[in-house]
Amino acid sequence: MLSWVLRRLAAKFGYIANYGYTDGSGDYYIIVDTDKCDGCGKCVEACPQGVLEVFTDDYDDLVVQVKKEHSKNLKYACAVCKPVSGAHDLKCQAACPGEAISHSW
Ligand code: SF4
Ligand code: SF4
Repeated sequence: MLSWVLRRLAAKFGYIANYGYTDGSGDYYIIVDTDKCDGCGKCVEACPQGVLEVFTDDYDDLVVQVKKEHSKNLKYACAVCKPVSGAHDLKCQAACPGEAISHSW
């Protein structure tokens, strides 16, 4: 619960964007530090599932986000890289030069 509140607070102040959901098996969020993300698109190119896209935010800055159609199925969409348990090979995270993207599970 505390982590959820902290994520909400961080999102409110615009530095951290959280995409995803919580279900009975856990928290499934992709987290983008919008101060670190420059919208280079390397994570978009690296993602084998087409989960991510670059958009222009309210400040006219390019930044990455999770596509709407994937925001409620990350547990399954990302399972190819990040299953609920087992080996992790996070292509988006590895591709990011600024360590701007992370995952909650
Ligand atoms: S974990 Fe894999 S499938 Fe999910 S956004 Fe990153 S590269 Fe794409
Ligand atoms: S690779 Fe990193 S800096 Fe580039 S768009 Fe993705 S999250 Fe942003």
